[in-house]
Amino acid sequence: MSERRVRVRFAPSPTGPLHIGGVRTALYNYLFARQHGGDLIFRIEDTDSGRFVPGAEEYIIESFRWLGIKFDEGVSFGGDHGPYRQSERRDIYRKYVKQLLDTGRAYIAFDTPEELDAKRKEVENFQYDASTRMQMRNSLTLPEEEVKRLIDEGCQYVVRFKIEPGREVLVNDLIRGEVRINSSILDDKVLYKSADGLPTYHLANIVDDHLMEVTHVIRGEEWLPSAPLHVLLYEAFGWADSMPRFAHLPLLLKPVGNGKLSKRDGDKLGFPVFPLEWHDPKTGEVSSGYREKGYLPQAVVNFLALLGWNPGNDHSELLSMDELIQLFDLSKCSRNGARFDYIKAAWFNHQYLIQQPDEAWVPDFDRLLQANGIQSTPEKEAEVVRMMKLKVIEYTDSEGNKKKRNISFVSDLWPLTRFFFVAPESFDREDKFIRKNWKETTAQEMRTFMEVLQTVEEDFSVESQKAVVDPWVEKSELRPWNAWRICLVGAGQGPDMYELSAFLGKEETLRRMQFAIDSLG
Ligand code: GLU
Repeated sequence: MSERRVRVRFAPSPTGPLHIGGVRTALYNYLFARQHGGDLIFRIEDTDSGRFVPGAEEYIIESFRWLGIKFDEGVSFGGDHGPYRQSERRDIYRKYVKQLLDTGRAYIAFDTPEELDAKRKEVENFQYDASTRMQMRNSLTLPEEEVKRLIDEGCQYVVRFKIEPGREVLVNDLIRGEVRINSSILDDKVLYKSADGLPTYHLANIVDDHLMEVTHVIRGEEWLPSAPLHVLLYEAFGWADSMPRFAHLPLLLKPVGNGKLSKRDGDKLGFPVFPLEWHDPKTGEVSSGYREKGYLPQAVVNFLALLGWNPGNDHSELLSMDELIQLFDLSKCSRNGARFDYIKAAWFNHQYLIQQPDEAWVPDFDRLLQANGIQSTPEKEAEVVRMMKLKVIEYTDSEGNKKKRNISFVSDLWPLTRFFFVAPESFDREDKFIRKNWKETTAQEMRTFMEVLQTVEEDFSVESQKAVVDPWVEKSELRPWNAWRICLVGAGQGPDMYELSAFLGKEETLRRMQFAIDSLG
């Protein structure tokens, strides 16, 4: 076979928001396409009209725009293999359904749902296949005129794939190697329904991959059971020579426990399973998204890329999209499920967040402050970011243990930075830090310190303060820092004291000191 241009596709069904596992699938397709200088196609598989959800398609497109995953062709992107929405390709599929019927690879079946139910009750583990199809009402058992008459009368029917039993079907998977199954376990899948004039997923998927010249099918493990059927369909159409290579990606597993990652895990542990916030048009339910949660798209991409693949020990875990494109290796993807480590996701976000200039934090930080009733300026906000972005915060893990972590989201800055904007209103005398650092003599020392600060130049810069305070500290042998912190912060936290007092300015600094002296005595 001559070298074909690499063409891959991401083919979601618009049945709701895109799950984070789907994002990973699309990302791997994107990395693979870019690496090989090929094309990535965006196809909408909407042949199941009953499951269509309005807004889902737009949501998916917006998700990839945000993540920086770009498509070369497809719905909303154009291209010369369209239309790319399956509901707009009815006539194309009809031709191929007819081909299978004409060549005897498929047949028409009239069995009603009631008849099928009755059969299921009658025959244990009933499956519509070579062992049962001759007992059913279909074009293999009914006379030709009868079939024609039923169709002319408008009887609903389906077209079923006629699977030849006892054959070994080989799926050659780039990740899983050779997967062999016996065709006898497969049922005669429905390929087309007269009721809506649409093919089912299997037929549309194969026909489109063929017509769109797809060379590699990279998709989630949940599609592996369909692969033997797909191989047989390629053969039945006479397309075996140009059949795409398969690569079934490992499942994403729950952060704790067994089984695959679900929305419930996210709800329980407090992380999103969707790229963007999703507003369910039917129930009105809102599900959180990575974007709204404060993730940077680069962090999400980096985190997802390493769920099921890694570049080996010689490489840092921090990889840009360009580096991922270079290093990605489909054949080195894991066969085992990848545990969804949401704490690691937050770690990645921290890494990317601190690489950003302080000013880049400002829009989100400003929104956060405003939501808490605080007005400030971009300059002041960037200044606070600079002082606080490397602090750690405490959190409680899923087992109830107190832990510390880096600031991973702009929203982590609240309540950590409240004191920059709001002076302490009271002091907790039971607080360990206050008990330890506010003694009998402290109020008097702070009064003296206030007199020293009065003499600092009005700009109250770190340098101006140091010029006056450092020599005084040395001479007086007083250590005012912790008590001063209590005055300005109200607790044992915050940035360097000179930086904080410079930020607050002389007047506010002295005002807070006076208030603490009056309150704590
Ligand atoms: N429409 C399928 C989905 O929703 C596509 C599966 C495939 O890639 O073949 O994931």
